Amino acid sequence: MLDTPIEYLKGIGTVRADVLKKELGIYNALDLITYYPFRYVDKTKFYTISQITDELPYVQLRGVIDSLEIVGLKQTKRLVVKFKDNTGNIDLVWFKGYNWIAQQLKLGVEYIVFGKATNFMGRYNIAHPEIDEVTADFFKQQSAFQSVYNSTEKLKFKGLDSTGIRKVQGNLIQQLIPEHCPENLSQEVIAEHKLISHFNALIHIHFPESAQQLKDAELRLKFEELFYIQLKLLKLNKVRATTTQGFVFSRVGEMFNTFFSNHLPFQLTNAQKRVLKEIRLDMGSGRQMNRLLQGDVGSGKTLVALMSMLLAIDNNFQTCIMAPTEILAQQHYQTFINLLEPLNLNIAILTGSSKVKQRKQILEKLLSNDIHILIGTHALIEDVVKFASLGLVVVDEQHRFGVAQRAKLRNKNTNPPHILLMTATPIPRTLAMTFYGDLDTSLIDELPPGRKPIKTVHYFENQRLRVNGFLKEQIALGRQVYIVFPLIQESEKLDYQNLQQGYDNLVNEFPAPTYQVSIVHGKLSNEQKDFEMQRFIKNETQIMVATTVIEVGVNIPNASVMVIESAERFGLSQLHQLRGRVGRGADQSFCILLTGAKLGADSRLRMKTMVSTNDGFEISEVDLKLRGPGDIEGTQQSGVMDLKLANLAQDGHILQLARQAAQSVLDEDVNLELEKNKVYQQTLIKQQQTKTDWSKIG
Ligand code: ADP
Ligand code: MG
Repeated sequence: MLDTPIEYLKGIGTVRADVLKKELGIYNALDLITYYPFRYVDKTKFYTISQITDELPYVQLRGVIDSLEIVGLKQTKRLVVKFKDNTGNIDLVWFKGYNWIAQQLKLGVEYIVFGKATNFMGRYNIAHPEIDEVTADFFKQQSAFQSVYNSTEKLKFKGLDSTGIRKVQGNLIQQLIPEHCPENLSQEVIAEHKLISHFNALIHIHFPESAQQLKDAELRLKFEELFYIQLKLLKLNKVRATTTQGFVFSRVGEMFNTFFSNHLPFQLTNAQKRVLKEIRLDMGSGRQMNRLLQGDVGSGKTLVALMSMLLAIDNNFQTCIMAPTEILAQQHYQTFINLLEPLNLNIAILTGSSKVKQRKQILEKLLSNDIHILIGTHALIEDVVKFASLGLVVVDEQHRFGVAQRAKLRNKNTNPPHILLMTATPIPRTLAMTFYGDLDTSLIDELPPGRKPIKTVHYFENQRLRVNGFLKEQIALGRQVYIVFPLIQESEKLDYQNLQQGYDNLVNEFPAPTYQVSIVHGKLSNEQKDFEMQRFIKNETQIMVATTVIEVGVNIPNASVMVIESAERFGLSQLHQLRGRVGRGADQSFCILLTGAKLGADSRLRMKTMVSTNDGFEISEVDLKLRGPGDIEGTQQSGVMDLKLANLAQDGHILQLARQAAQSVLDEDVNLELEKNKVYQQTLIKQQQTKTDWSKIG
């Protein structure tokens, strides 16, 4: 039944079917019934026109049409209907499809009108309301939880507005019997989590009769949605662990030990030690490591990477680290060269700006096993970059790379190398579980000692003089300052003008020779960027004006003041990353957020959050609530974003339960062979098939 092509369902036909396919990707009955309402309205409640206020989200009115006329010219042409009840009157307005609507509407007949009333110049009107004639059984259909569906212009044109979609859902559901919707969870799981049946859930999500029914239906459907994602991820992880041979890094050898005993520049934090141990055990276990290392900005991930890489070298393997920007790759190269100098290792850097000759040499040396450590940017992914024996791949700031790019590194050896992904963009636990559910995770939850929390303040642009005064004080103390300007593609030209303007103003305010100001942005060549960075690193310039090219990774401990211009234009995770460029040395660091005077509610919350906490995880939770999971960096390509019902910002507890349930199913029966688990095997296969079908069509 649920496989029935959409055109054969009651009330649809070929014309509507075409639009449903094109607009919503609904091909069969199953697609339709899993096209869930996006909200519910109370259709048992009526208002009078006199009761309307700005606060009401939607109103349902009962009354008659007094008059109707089409007014306005061209763009502003519209149908205006005067609608009245005993308490007053209101305008109903249509800007589209008004000719047809005008023909349908009758004077003196009683109508029910439903929509959002807005106040225009002191008078309320409702644009594009739902309007139905009062018929004998009209009130029987009205429910306190009437489903509302997203529709599109083209669908509406074919009568499939929200009401139309609800009608075809109703037709379908009337024909459904439980056998059409077999259970897709085992009785065990259903009983344990007190879930209602799959069949009932499908019906009640569209036509709930009470708040409780709706709640139960939502819980059941969200649970199964999240359960299957977790089942897939956890199964993948388990299967990979048993089938993929990992290189066994059996020994902790000379390089690691020498470095650890003699050349470590400081004591490792407990968190670094713990994480290194997790990595060491994993790489020695015989399984191939796929590990995500999370640690807030400045927590010392680089050192963990470096020491893990020494383990690879001790076991006669090559290793590489990939960074998202040239600046960051250069910085890692310097760090590695400095720290590893006494060990006499061959370390090379390969980026987009490597010279042809150099590049050729590096490629040869990689193949002849004469390079131990390769550091680079995206350039590492290219097919021509081949290793003799790559044993460990580190991806720094991994959220900057796509899934496909990471996969390519995996294939740089016949047996996949161990993989360590590092990220400083903390993501909320719920997201981590979903997007990295197939990875093991390690967490550095401690900053190196002696760090003073960064003081963050929010100033308005008209307080700039004060800010400049403060910067002069800090520079007099020997500190350095970053000043970051926003730069986004959509307004690139204007943003560059602002950047240049800002730079000019600064040079005026901070004149040479007392002050030296560097500037770095995307339009400079890599040599120029590097030159300016080096000047700043050597403390030849005190101020670095930059765009977000310095957002990730850059580590210059003496720079202790971060000024963020037009801070309201940045997202929270970006602000946090930028702030993370300071607070890296022993001195008190500051972050100054400069904004315009007028701020929207979201911007105000972002500034408030930044001022009140330095905790990346706390910030990421607020970010998730503000933006929703779809916009969180690095999640777009993960392919699990097509959640139909569950909301990762709100349903963390359901996710937790679903993950536990999936885990215990797999712990007992990883291949899903037990009788009670057959249903999982079948559903997974079915999901796989539907996916491939879609891709053929798409
Ligand atoms: P991130 O985790 O953001 O990549 P980095 O690896 O760049 O952080 O480290 C930030 C700074 O902290 C660097 O200057 C690094 O040398 C320093 N650092 C790392 N580990 C320690 C430690 N255990 N004790 C003191 N300083 C440390
Ligand atoms: Mg880093």
